[in-house]
Parts: sequence; structure tokens; C-alpha cells
Amino acid sequence: YEKIEILDKNRDELTEISYTFNGMMEKLEQHYQKQQQFVSNASHELKTPITVIESYAKLLLRRGFDNKEVAQESLQAIVNESAHMHEMVLQLLDLAKNKEQLAVHYVQLELNPLLKKAASQMQQAYHRSFIVDTEMPKYIYSDEKIVKQLLFILLDNARKYSDGEVQLRATETSSHVLITIQDFGIGIPEAHIPHLFERFYRVGEDRNRKTGGTGLGLAIAQELANQLAITIEVKSIVGKGSSFTLHVPKEEQ
Ligand code: ADP
Repeated sequence: YEKIEILDKNRDELTEISYTFNGMMEKLEQHYQKQQQFVSNASHELKTPITVIESYAKLLLRRGFDNKEVAQESLQAIVNESAHMHEMVLQLLDLAKNKEQLAVHYVQLELNPLLKKAASQMQQAYHRSFIVDTEMPKYIYSDEKIVKQLLFILLDNARKYSDGEVQLRATETSSHVLITIQDFGIGIPEAHIPHLFERFYRVGEDRNRKTGGTGLGLAIAQELANQLAITIEVKSIVGKGSSFTLHVPKEEQ
């Protein structure tokens, strides 16, 4: 009897181990497929500007020497597409950064000066109004560099997808400080909201051509937010505007 019991126990253990193993393999497989998908998307996204650059360079060689207008148009297209590629490569490098190597330094940050500085830098760069609410919690406890990077991604989007002013404000709950970036621009259709943080996801191809977006900004924002246990909440009404709210934990996670 005792022998059978031991055998049974061994079998149970084996079954358990094999379940765990299968689960792990499944996760690895999913991870691998995601990675494959990412590489294939990245290559595809880089191929488009390369093709455009190549065809304009050929046009320039063929007709640019006799025709100033053709030369002007070709060179401008080459400049635009190179800038687009440059931005994409920088963002891809950002995403590829080894997260373990990115040390997180939690410090107490004065919130109002932090938001004011980010707003005034954006105002300087783009000659647009970025308005910071005066009433807000005094501090957050977080990583200055990462939070700033996160803010700039959201402020830049607010600027790109609206014409009017952009507002920054903050409130608090017992456990979190909530920082909101609000624009009064084109808004986002509800069906798209769950996908915004996926790599390369863009709401409409045309409207992004104009702004030259890559679809990587919010994917980077999500990674940065994860490092600080920050969640990002999106609210939007098409034609009225969007708000992105960072839920920053009050305690280090
Ligand atoms: P992109 O480089 O295209 O701006 P993001 O990852 O930053 O890429 O954003 C993904 C998509 O989400 C954008 O292409 C845009 O369609 C939409 N989006 C992001 N922020 C806003 C906003 N504030 N207002 C409207 N649409 C937005």
C-alpha cells in the first residue's frame, strides 16, 4: 500500500511539473511570436520611407539638374522622410532598451514646478499655449527622468492632435496622484482606445501623415509607466478632445 501511495504521489508531482512546464513553454512561444511580429512591423514601417527616399533620389538624378522645381520637391521629400526615419529609429532604440539596466530612482518631486517647466518648454518649442492649473497636490514620489519623458510624450500628442490650448492639472485620491493632460482636438473614436498603446498603432493613416507620427510614442509611454507602476487612463470625445491621466502611486511599489 505504501508503495502505491508513493507512486501516486510521484505521478501527481510529475503531472504538476509537466503542467508548469507546458505553461512556461506557451508563454515563451507567445513572447517569441510577439517579438517576431514586432520585428516584421518595424521592418515594414522603415521600408516605406526608404522606398520614398529612393524614388525621389532617382527622380532628382534624372530630372533635378534641369528642373529646379523637381529638385526642390525631391529634396524636401527626402528631408521629410529622413527625419521621420530618424525619429522612428530613436524610438525603436528606446523600446529596445534593457529594462533591467534602467535604474529607477524614486525621489520626492515638487509637482507644480515639474509641470510648469514641462509646459513652458513645450510652449517655447511649439509656440502653443500649455496652461497649468495652480491648485494641485504638492508632491509626487517618483523618478524624475522617467516621469518627464512620460509627460513629454503625452504633451506632444496633445499638441499634435489639436490646435487649441493644452491643459495640465492634478488631483489626488488616498492612494494616487492623478496628473491629467487635456486637449481640445480631434479626439479618438472609442473603438480605438484599447489599442492606442500597441506598437505602431495609429488611429488613421491619413491624419498621421500630416503629423508624421510613428505610432510608437504611446507604446514607449506604456513601458515607462509600467516601470513606475503608473497606469494611464484615456478619455476622449471625437471632435471635442482627449485627456490622458497618469495615476501615480503615492507609495513606492
Ligand atoms: P504617433 O506617433 O502616431 O502620435 P502614438 O503612439 O503617440 O503615435 O499615438 C498613437 C495614436 O493615438 C496616434 O497616431 C493618434 O491617432 C492617437 N492619439 C494619441 N494621442 C492623441 C490625442 N491626444 N488626440 C487624438 N489622438 C491621439
